[in-house]
Amino acid sequence: MKFDLHCHSHYSDGKHSPSFLVHRALANQVTHLAITDHDCTAAIGEVKDISAMLTLIPGVEISCEWQRHEIHIVGLCINSEELQLESLLLAQQAGRRARLKEMGNELQKLGVDGLIEYCAKLTCKSLSRSHVADFLVEKGIVKNRQKAFKTFLTKGGRIFVEPNWCDMTEAIDAIHNAKGLSVLAHPTRYPLSKRKLTNLVSNFAIAGGDAIEVSYGNVDLHTQKHLTEIALGKSLHVSAGSDFHDSNAHWTDIGKYPTLEERAEKNAIWEHPKWHS
Ligand code: AMP
Ligand code: MN
Ligand code: MN
Ligand code: MN
Repeated sequence: MKFDLHCHSHYSDGKHSPSFLVHRALANQVTHLAITDHDCTAAIGEVKDISAMLTLIPGVEISCEWQRHEIHIVGLCINSEELQLESLLLAQQAGRRARLKEMGNELQKLGVDGLIEYCAKLTCKSLSRSHVADFLVEKGIVKNRQKAFKTFLTKGGRIFVEPNWCDMTEAIDAIHNAKGLSVLAHPTRYPLSKRKLTNLVSNFAIAGGDAIEVSYGNVDLHTQKHLTEIALGKSLHVSAGSDFHDSNAHWTDIGKYPTLEERAEKNAIWEHPKWHS
C-alpha cells in the first residue's frame, strides 16, 4: 500500500483537475489518495466515479488560527456533506473572497487593476494568495511567485491583509463531527520556535487532534525523526503526504515524500481505530 494524504486540485491553489491527480497517483503506484484542498471539498464528488482503481479518502485542509499564528489542519475520512463542517468551510471561503477583495483594493491604490476579474475566471472555489501571486506574475509586476509573496503577500508586504481564519479547536471539532480524523499539517513550515512547536502539539493533542504529518515534500530525515518522536510522545498517530500543487514544480510529485520509519508506520493514521475507507 502507498498513501498520499495531502495534495491540492484546481478547486483551491493546485494547478490540476481532480482527475489529473487520480491518474498521476495511479501512475505513481499510490493506492490511497486524499485530495485536501484548502477549505474546500469540491474535488471529492468529481472523482468518485473514476477512482475505482484506488481508494479515495475524502479530505480537506483547513486554515486556522492558533495563538495568533496561522496553522493548517488536514481532515481525513470526512463526511463532506455534514452541516457543521460544510458551514465552516463556506465561512472560510467567504473570508477568502473578502480578503481577496481587500487585496484588490490595495493593488488598485498602487495603480494595478483587474485582480477580481482575473480570479473570476478561475475554476477555484477557495481563492488564495497563490492566485494573487500568479496575477502579479502574469501582469509582469514580479518575476515569480516567491517574489510576489516576499514583496507583496506576506506580513509586512505591500498588500498584505490579515486573514480571519477559524480557531484550531473549531476545525478539529468540525472534522470530528463529520466523522473524520484531524492532522496537524507540515509542522515545520510555521515560523515557530522549537518550544512553541511543542506547545502547539500539546494544545493540538488536548483539543482532541489525532495525528501529525511527519513526512511531506522535501522534509529531511532528521526533522522527520524529531516530529515522529514528538507525535509518539503525545500518543498521536502520524501522517504523510506530498502537498502536491503543480507538476511544473519538479521537486514534488503525487506519492513523493520520504519513507516513514518503522515505528511511524506502526502508528500511521491508516492504523487508527477510526480510520475508515
Ligand atoms: P492563503 O491560503 O491565501 O494563505 O495562501 C497560502 C498558499 O500560498 C499556501 O497554501 C501555499 O500553497 C502558498 N504559499 C504560501 N507561502 C508561499 C511562498 N512564500 N511562496 C510560494 N507559495 C506560497
Ligand atoms: Mn496551497
Ligand atoms: Mn498547508
Ligand atoms: Mn497543503
